[in-house]
Amino acid sequence: MKGPEWKYVVIVEEKEKGNPRVQCCFCDKVYVGGSARIREHLHGEQNALIKQCDKVPEEVADAMRKLVQEKKEVKLKSVNLKL
Ligand SMILES: [Zn+2]
Repeated sequence: MKGPEWKYVVIVEEKEKGNPRVQCCFCDKVYVGGSARIREHLHGEQNALIKQCDKVPEEVADAMRKLVQEKKEVKLKSVNLKL
């Protein structure tokens, strides 16, 4: 299942293996990436391998930030369960 970040890109080229080539709907940048890379581009994570989108609306960047935060919390919870 694809997350909401896929609404903001157009898939330019599907790859049989690995991540597709996608185009950002806001700045038209084309890059290769999966969900995590798309979110990084949209909300501008520190230490991200990709430059933040300079045309992304603030509300989309915020939504992505929340999404990333939720995913981190889920990860922490599942780690705690294992301990
Ligand atoms: Zn962009």
